[in-house]
Amino acid sequence: MRKILLSVCCAPDSTHSINALREAGFEPVLFLYNPNIHPYNEYLKRIFEMKKTAAAFGAEAVCPDDWGAKEWFGFVEEFKHEKEGGKRCSACFALRMEKSALAAKKLGIGLFTTTLTISPHKDAKLINSLGAEAAAGHGVEYLATDFKKKDGFKKSVALSKAHGIYRQNYCGCSYSLLERRAGKPIKI
Ligand code: SF4
Repeated sequence: MRKILLSVCCAPDSTHSINALREAGFEPVLFLYNPNIHPYNEYLKRIFEMKKTAAAFGAEAVCPDDWGAKEWFGFVEEFKHEKEGGKRCSACFALRMEKSALAAKKLGIGLFTTTLTISPHKDAKLINSLGAEAAAGHGVEYLATDFKKKDGFKKSVALSKAHGIYRQNYCGCSYSLLERRAGKPIKI
C-alpha cells in the first residue's frame, strides 16, 4: 500500500481516518505536530493518546521533538481576537499544512492529508485548499478528504469509546480554552 503522512489533530479523530485511508488503499504514517495545543500538560496528554492510538491501530507515528508553540503564537498573533472558525483558525490550519508538507517531503513519503476534515465544525473545503497549496509549495502531493462523510465523525466517536481514547472538550489553543471557560459553545 502507498504510504501517506496523516497529520493528526487529536487521537479520537485519527481512529476513523486511519480506517478510511486503509480502506482507500493507503497506509497512514501519523504525524503528531500540534503546536496549537495548550497548555503544555494538555499537549503531553493528547500526544500520549495519539501514540496510544497509533499502537492500537498498528500505525507508525512520527512526533516532532519540539512542541512548536512559540512559532504557532507568532503565526496567529494578529488574529488572536478572532472567534473560533475565523482567521485565527485559517492561520492555524495553514501552519499545520505547511509543516505537514515539509515533513512529507523530508520523510520521503511525498503525500499527505489531515484528520482535520472529520470535524463537523471545520471547513473541509478550506482545509483541503490550504493542504493543496502547501503541497504545491513543497513539490509533494495532498490528498483531499472529507472524513466526516458517511458518518465518519460518528464512527470516530464510537471507535474512540471502544478503545478508551481521551476526547478533549475544547479545540486546543489557549484562546479556545478561554472561550470554553467563558461558557461559549465549543466547536471541536
Ligand atoms: S480554535 Fe482550534 S483550529 Fe482554531 S486556532 Fe485554536 S487550535 Fe487552531
